[in-house]
Amino acid sequence: MDKIKMTTPIVEMDGDEMTRILWKMIKDNLLLPYIDLKTEYYDLGLEHRDATNDQVTIDAANATKKYKVAVKCATITPNAARVEEYHLKEMWKSPNGTIRAILDGTVFRAPIVVKGIEPCVKNWKKPITIARHAYGDVYKAAEMKIPGPGKAELVYTAEDGTETRETIHDFTCPGIIQGMHNITPSIESFARSCFNYALGTKQELWFATKDTISKKYDHTFKDIFQEIFDQEYADKFKEAGITYFYTLIDDAVARVMKSEGGYIWACKNYDGDVMSDMISSAFGSLAMMTSVLVSPDGNFEYEAAHGTVQRHYYKHLKGEETSTNSVATIFAWTGALRKRGELDGNKELSAFADRLEKATIDTIESGEMTKDLALITTIEHPTVLNSEDFIKAIAKRL
Ligand code: NAP
Ligand code: MG
Repeated sequence: MDKIKMTTPIVEMDGDEMTRILWKMIKDNLLLPYIDLKTEYYDLGLEHRDATNDQVTIDAANATKKYKVAVKCATITPNAARVEEYHLKEMWKSPNGTIRAILDGTVFRAPIVVKGIEPCVKNWKKPITIARHAYGDVYKAAEMKIPGPGKAELVYTAEDGTETRETIHDFTCPGIIQGMHNITPSIESFARSCFNYALGTKQELWFATKDTISKKYDHTFKDIFQEIFDQEYADKFKEAGITYFYTLIDDAVARVMKSEGGYIWACKNYDGDVMSDMISSAFGSLAMMTSVLVSPDGNFEYEAAHGTVQRHYYKHLKGEETSTNSVATIFAWTGALRKRGELDGNKELSAFADRLEKATIDTIESGEMTKDLALITTIEHPTVLNSEDFIKAIAKRL
């Protein structure tokens, strides 16, 4: 059989620990035998980030702007313990944070739905995709502890020196305050990324904030979404037969629980952080959650939503057998390959991505799975496979 040819490379970002081990197994067993794989390789493993003073992360993000499609392995975000473990020069920033800052955009997270791994919410039949705004709000806030009586104010000083003030609170006792912000261009690109993703995947788009309480902050999000929708997307949505729907965040939560899924739920940064963990656990497992960063100018970076699975890696290093789920990492690859195929008009490549996803799902549905899934499946007497044998079982079907 001839291998499938590629015309444009995918940006390949290698990572850390157990997911780095899976990365190689996936390439060796599921990709390289079938595809003349063209990638531009960046080693985002922590040692190499440290050796390059994290320049490799910046280079990888810039390469993503050039080639438009990237696939990323999970990486360690160093903390004090990691600085010691890896003798790091510095506590390097989160690679995902660095990449997001360069590409801008929105993170879309969707569960991989298979028969036999049933959602806790029994009426959920189709995946729910969370679109999380990845800039600002409480993640870039200034905070203060208020020691005692006094007045706290918001002050905006314009370039010409004029001040606008708003009282936060006249304290008569100790307390706390927080000042957060967002910027219009980022909210606009969040909106466009969501509308484009909805069109690309032909799914309805829901957006929710607390605009009744936050009449300026959250209301601005609502207004920007509505303006951009009316001016740029209303016709395209009609044509695609999908809708855009705005509601209050509490109403959205209630509706999500009663829905059957199959839509995109756009969330502000904090809501998206919290809700994506709820959605992924309710659908079964963090190991079955895919994630893609979509930038407003059409760059796509695919990855698994989980981390480097450190605990399994240490077992692996001791020579013990592991049963780590590679599904989300496989789907990161298929997402990138399918998108590459779409952008290059390479039908064979996109079709391969479909076949690999089908082989993966069929493997699980036939009862062969890793331990994390075996613990929650409704399939009777599942066969528990180790990390490598699971990938080999997929390869056999493929
Ligand atoms: P984690 O890697 O997501 O793993 C947490 C636990 O979830 C694991 O110990 C395992 O549970 C289970 N799990 C996650 N993925 C699994 C899989 N594919 N197969 C089977 N079980 C899976 O989170 P962490 O241990 O908190 O973080 C480890 C490192 O990952 C950290 O250094 C963190 O900085 C990094 N991280 C990176 C990303 C990213 O690159 N996007 C995201 C999150 C975290 P059991 O141990 O019970 O089997
Ligand atoms: Mg979270």
